[in-house]
Amino acid sequence: MSWIGKIGRVGRMVEPAHDAPEAAIAPPTGVTGSLQLRHVDCGSCNGCELEITSAFAPMYDAERFGARLVASPRHADALLATGVVTHNMRQPLLNTLKAIPEPRIVIAVGDCAVNGNMFTKGYGVVGTVGDVVPVDVEIPGCPPTPQQIITALRSVTGR
Ligand code: SF4
Repeated sequence: MSWIGKIGRVGRMVEPAHDAPEAAIAPPTGVTGSLQLRHVDCGSCNGCELEITSAFAPMYDAERFGARLVASPRHADALLATGVVTHNMRQPLLNTLKAIPEPRIVIAVGDCAVNGNMFTKGYGVVGTVGDVVPVDVEIPGCPPTPQQIITALRSVTGR
């Protein structure tokens, strides 16, 4: 069987969509169903990045709920921040947030971003994401699962 034929036979493989969660916050642009995200790794171990990658990969497909990762903060409605904020990443985090047009929201992903996890007293650590920028949505977990990430994003996109 050709690979094209195999694609046709297998079809689309994606985790089932559960019921839409309660709205956590109004969409920043006032437009429901769409949320453009600029991700900043503030000092994570990359565990959260792996789960974000899974959330946007074909198996979980966060884009079907209107969330999309974008390369430029100028194109974003929201900031997706992972990890504790290190001294080196404090200013880049602030710069990125400033470059996102208002109204905008900040989503902290993972225990490090939300509460500092086990790195709170690290010599290179400034604090949590909330210590540096105002956080609107928190996604706890070390790391949070793709499903948890998608549920939180859906609570903003409304889909
Ligand atoms: S929350 Fe866990 S997985 Fe995410 S950056 Fe921190 S230690 Fe890594």
